[in-house]
Amino acid sequence: MKSSEERWLLDLRASARGDSRAYDLLRSLTDEVGPRFSGTPGEAAAVQWALEAMRRAGLANVRTEAAPTVLWSRGDERGGVAERVELLSPRRERLVATALGSSVGTVGGAVEAQVVEATSMEEIDRLGRARLEGKILYLHHVMPRLRDGTGYNAGGWARTAGASRAAKHGAVGFVIRSIATHSLRIAHTGILHYDGDAPKIPAAALSPPDGDLLHRLLADGGRVRLAMELGCRPLHAGESFNVLGEIPGTDLADQIVLFGAHLDSWDVGRGAVDDGAGCVMALEVARMIGALPKRPRRTLRIALFANEELGAGGGRAYAEAHAGEASRHYAAMEADQSDGAPWALRVPEHRRDSPASKRLAALLAPLHLELDPGPARGGVDVGPLHARGVPFVDLRQDATRYFDLQHSANDVLENVVREELDAATGAFATTVALLLHMDESLR
Ligand SMILES: [Zn+2]
Repeated sequence: MKSSEERWLLDLRASARGDSRAYDLLRSLTDEVGPRFSGTPGEAAAVQWALEAMRRAGLANVRTEAAPTVLWSRGDERGGVAERVELLSPRRERLVATALGSSVGTVGGAVEAQVVEATSMEEIDRLGRARLEGKILYLHHVMPRLRDGTGYNAGGWARTAGASRAAKHGAVGFVIRSIATHSLRIAHTGILHYDGDAPKIPAAALSPPDGDLLHRLLADGGRVRLAMELGCRPLHAGESFNVLGEIPGTDLADQIVLFGAHLDSWDVGRGAVDDGAGCVMALEVARMIGALPKRPRRTLRIALFANEELGAGGGRAYAEAHAGEASRHYAAMEADQSDGAPWALRVPEHRRDSPASKRLAALLAPLHLELDPGPARGGVDVGPLHARGVPFVDLRQDATRYFDLQHSANDVLENVVREELDAATGAFATTVALLLHMDESLR
């Protein structure tokens, strides 16, 4: 790239620091729309908000695309008690808990049972039917705080698969210490998946201190009983909408650089960190690139995906609807780590030593982005494009604080830092701009 081109890249970073509108957009989204859980009026309002925001940002071809989704609710629409997890013995106390997404409700009254603890998925199998039949399984998984967020890999799996693992051995309920990195008395929800060959049992997350309480009470053979009452409604089919818009390219306009985030959020917070921040960064990146005097060579497509939290129907729908133009996708990126500072760049595995990767890494070096040896994985939303041969480029963001907030009532605007959001927006804008202009192929 010529030095004149490096100059506009620097301009892009400066404008992200100087007059980014990302935080104001996030305030608008979280204050005016609020929670955007799949299938709710909030989600429908968010789609209208996103269409308007894209038009205001100067995007072309702004449109929605239908995404078949599976919907669920924790059953509190009519103001009833949606969820109760209560310690019955050795003493009584209402615990801070939240149903896991997709959980069945407790039909016909509360489940009351003795609690058995496991500290790993393997231990659930070791306990087996002899210990778990008729019991509530408590999974004591303590997620480590790591900059790269990889503590979520094992944690997310425990939350997603733990209930069915316990149910196969006869457990009648499942509670897990929240997959989170703090010790505040706040519970974190998140999706679970039931296996087809196991009974569906009610499942909830406890706040970390409530999980730790069970852990101490159960130590040395302590006997603990819990009551679980969840008002969750059964899963049913629905329809959500991805929102798309573009900054058309010039000489390479038929090649697409896709940059996505997810518009839906959990019901318990306001979706500021997960993933309002990603959405407003995508919108702001598009606005900044569209406002540059130099038009992009490739077409930038922004996709705000539906239903990421409750089954990723939006990402799948995009991959299917755009299968015919998969080969026209030059690269796909995704932002879903709030305002975390980008610290590393990942490229497709087989392209690590390619001229394109070296060029990207060299030009991004002033942003203190190292070339990470791991392969780019995309994220939940662009992930389905991998099978269709679309190259991913990842900006790894600092996840040190992210899991204090994700999927909880604390996912609010106050926990996004304007300066951090602006800095991350600048890094994404610079990376996306490079992808729009580079000569070299990533395939
Ligand atoms: Zn997310």
